Amino acid sequence: MKDLIDKLKKNNSLSKDEFVFLIKNRTPEICEHIFKEADEVRKSVYGTDVYIRGLIEISNYCKNDCFYCGIRNSNTSLTRYRLSEEDILKCCMEGYSLGFRTFVLQGGEDSFFSDDVMESIIRSIKERYPDCAVTLSLGEKSRSSYERLYRAGADRYLLRHETADNCHYKRLHPVYLSLDERKKCLFDLREIGYQVGTGFMVGSPFQTAENLADDMCFLMKLKPHMVGIGPFLPHKDTPFKDYRQGDLELTLFMIALTRLTLPNALIPATTALSTLSSSGRIKGIMAGANVIMPNLSPVNLRKLYSLYDGKAFLNEEAKEGLSKLMEQVKAAGYEIVSSRGDYKKEG
Ligand code: SAM
Repeated sequence: MKDLIDKLKKNNSLSKDEFVFLIKNRTPEICEHIFKEADEVRKSVYGTDVYIRGLIEISNYCKNDCFYCGIRNSNTSLTRYRLSEEDILKCCMEGYSLGFRTFVLQGGEDSFFSDDVMESIIRSIKERYPDCAVTLSLGEKSRSSYERLYRAGADRYLLRHETADNCHYKRLHPVYLSLDERKKCLFDLREIGYQVGTGFMVGSPFQTAENLADDMCFLMKLKPHMVGIGPFLPHKDTPFKDYRQGDLELTLFMIALTRLTLPNALIPATTALSTLSSSGRIKGIMAGANVIMPNLSPVNLRKLYSLYDGKAFLNEEAKEGLSKLMEQVKAAGYEIVSSRGDYKKEG
């Protein structure tokens, strides 16, 4: 086992079978070992810096019907909202004063946020905060839309592939969504010039170790700048309400494998990880993550951006939450820094 981890650390690659072997045969001792190795690799590229991204959840309307997601179109129990440009700028203003230099605009696939509307929002943010990065996470769009938003000033785009296995993808999504289309979007985004983030859920229904190994192989192929990995968490108003949540140790293990595969990647310790365990964020950082995405959305709307049950930090004000987070991160031996936190190129 340790020799395979050494091999991955040295070559940044393994075969699918080798990934499967590691995932299936991991023990608590191997987990401890890989977390240490991943931490060392992260420190060699990014030191102890932890970057913060201000997450602004701009809309919970979504035309899609992903079986796992609480904001899916068929969920009629949910009150829907969308933020105005003014609301979004207010969130940025608060975030900027707290030290955030990246704003992540995330939402369901909501046709209200047309290219015209998004272009205006991106330009307004970049005009007011030229030293900040704008990240979009708004789902699948045409290449021309991605190009337009890039020209308007967007720097980064997050679009998790969710699972890199075609059959598994079909069991998580309605028929009109396809893994090929999702992957095409990711390669388009990369070619256009965005810093690209992908990622997957750990422990989603029907997932096997082979599926997770496929996720690792897809990461080796795409070479994304950012990778978001979080546990699947059930939501009571979805077809997957009775499925078990993803496992904490396995999620941390996948984060560590990702750090060893992509030493320069920006890897968040996700909100889903914190929802699974109150120490999830810190454990994520200790397993190789180097980004945290505190919520800057208006506090009264956060519960409506309900992807899964029990979402963490619902009532935490950005201000108090951030200083507490800084202390926790410091106590673990890392430091939250106020910077754009761009991807560091290899070499
Ligand atoms: N609409 C955009 C998209 O499709 O990429 C962004 C919003 S989408 C809700 C953001 C991410 O939430 C998804 O990529 C998915 O991995 C995650 N997510 C949704 N439901 C989840 C659940 N039940 N458990 C864990 N993560 C979930």
